[in-house]
Amino acid sequence: MRHLLLVTLFLSAAISFADEPTVKKVLYIGLDGTRFDAMEKAATPNLDALMKEGIYSDTCLILGDRYQKNDTVSGPGWSTILTGVWADKHGVHDNSFLGTHYKEFPHFFARLKEVRPDAKTASYVTWEPIHKFIVSAADETKNFEQKEHTTADYDRYDHEAAVAAVKMLKEGNPDALFFYVGQIDVAGHTNGFHPTVSQYIQAIERGDALVGDLVTAMKARATYEKEDWLVIVTSDHGGKGTGHGGGHKIPEILNSFLIVSGPSAQRGKFEKQVYLPDAPVTALAHLGVKAKEEWKLDGRVVGLK
Ligand SMILES: [Zn+2]
Repeated sequence: MRHLLLVTLFLSAAISFADEPTVKKVLYIGLDGTRFDAMEKAATPNLDALMKEGIYSDTCLILGDRYQKNDTVSGPGWSTILTGVWADKHGVHDNSFLGTHYKEFPHFFARLKEVRPDAKTASYVTWEPIHKFIVSAADETKNFEQKEHTTADYDRYDHEAAVAAVKMLKEGNPDALFFYVGQIDVAGHTNGFHPTVSQYIQAIERGDALVGDLVTAMKARATYEKEDWLVIVTSDHGGKGTGHGGGHKIPEILNSFLIVSGPSAQRGKFEKQVYLPDAPVTALAHLGVKAKEEWKLDGRVVGLK
């Protein structure tokens, strides 16, 4: 009888543990100006592991079929990656940030909070305009970019951003966390965006190590076993020579990549065409937020099981 009671107690405990719903969370990573062919050449064990544990595209387009009038630079790119709409809607056509429509087409943190007001959001970047113009509805938002812009300076800023993101992952309870790496783009502008350019490759490798720091912190969370993290990684544009502006007909600039990784992600390589605005819409879907018709989002949910 005593045995039976113990077995019953054990079983009911096991069942109640299994019944607890997992908490869905998103780690959203942006690697500015990163070409996929250079990423393949570089030693990137952390990005490789994310691809293996998910689905990826090496031809994620940075311009839509409907609209292509914006420049192929960071302002419109990150606006699209963070709002889920193309430039005719968010209004950012270059890096001047004149004519923004972020009120009507806000950062996906705002959409998340519209549906789940208690959700926690955080953003750590090394490009000030993201912090200053694009981010909204963040519980914590920090920019680490300073005046000096050599690749070495930027490596320091990216490290500081990663340290802050890791601290939030360890000590906080974010539902959606955005982390941005800037030094790869800086190395591209300084030395060239190409798989044969060692400075560009090394910057990608340092960026990969920072991604590894965040993923390690995520997996070390005390509550990790009860969480279901989706990791999304993408870039705002590629590059050719030492630039990427005016790249409307240049495949090396137009093609970004997209990684959707984690237990809830599909496996393998995307067969259909994916686009930058698919990234935030997929993040929202994982977080239980179905896009409303009136939000007029251009992205679709891609790569989830
Ligand atoms: Zn950029």
